[in-house]
Amino acid sequence: MSSEYLVEVQDLKQYFPVKTGFMKNTYLKAVDGVSFAIRPGETLGLVGESGCGKTTVGRTLLRLYEPTGGKVLFNGEEVTNKNITALRKEMQIIFQDPYASLNPRMSVSEIIAEPLIVNGILSHRTDIEKRVGELMDTVGIARRLAYAYPHELDGGRRQRVGIARALSVNPKFIVCDEPVSSLDVSIQAQVLNLMMDFQDEFGLTYMFITHDLSVVKHISDEIMVMYLGQCVERASSKELFANPMHPYTKALLSAIPVPDVDVDHEPILLEGDIPSPYNPPKGCLFHTRCKYAMECCKTEVPAMRQIGENHCVACHLYDNMEKDKQ
Ligand code: SF4
Repeated sequence: MSSEYLVEVQDLKQYFPVKTGFMKNTYLKAVDGVSFAIRPGETLGLVGESGCGKTTVGRTLLRLYEPTGGKVLFNGEEVTNKNITALRKEMQIIFQDPYASLNPRMSVSEIIAEPLIVNGILSHRTDIEKRVGELMDTVGIARRLAYAYPHELDGGRRQRVGIARALSVNPKFIVCDEPVSSLDVSIQAQVLNLMMDFQDEFGLTYMFITHDLSVVKHISDEIMVMYLGQCVERASSKELFANPMHPYTKALLSAIPVPDVDVDHEPILLEGDIPSPYNPPKGCLFHTRCKYAMECCKTEVPAMRQIGENHCVACHLYDNMEKDKQ
């Protein structure tokens, strides 16, 4: 990978030790060998079902967890070598649960102003008030709520406070962890449009984590699909929606509702239980739920293969296709 990327992740691993229960003294492999890169000003959508490790990837990038293995480079420098305070100015996060991430003892204006003060970006009260007011306007919170506390706001407004807080320091990179999942559909579109406007205006780079592929379709340049801690498919957003290859990606895409009643749309139902991440299956992790599974899928881990320009997939179906061509 070259320095054309703002964020480069190489073979990232995040294992959590299991300290109690029948799996004691083993490891939960939340992320197991994930690699990707994001160019400045672009958005990587990270999708998969709950528990696939996507949130752990985001948090490990920001050093909220120290990685078990692999490398995370930001602007060509390993994040583990960077000063954590400087890192926080450049990399921010918008959390999934706004209520848990906002200090209940601080007002809206104090929450948004805090990063500006802590990072020494603004010091004069009038400048801080002006910036906080602008940020409140931008994310759609009425200024009369400046002195309200998180418990006085509904979930949508609380999340907008979280977004304003992340944007306040003008970071280069933001990990957006399901930032719109708690909002009404109409508000989701507003917030997504705002985030894209910010990206154009300030050249922001996003990692957008979601379980909902329809949310990332328009905001993402590239999309990575994760299953049980591993990447199964990665492609440009356009390519992934036009030509999904992995059976798991096809199932996720088929779950997106189609608004046109004349279109014959049949969601692909995944059969079988989701394997325990404490004891994942051998071979392809998806083989217990895949209707195309072959004998080799039960024992051989599929390699990530480039099957097109900017399109990679890890599935034995495409090994066989290559062999057939020979
Ligand atoms: Fe299905 Fe086999 Fe492909 Fe895994 S490798 S997704 S089990 S066909």
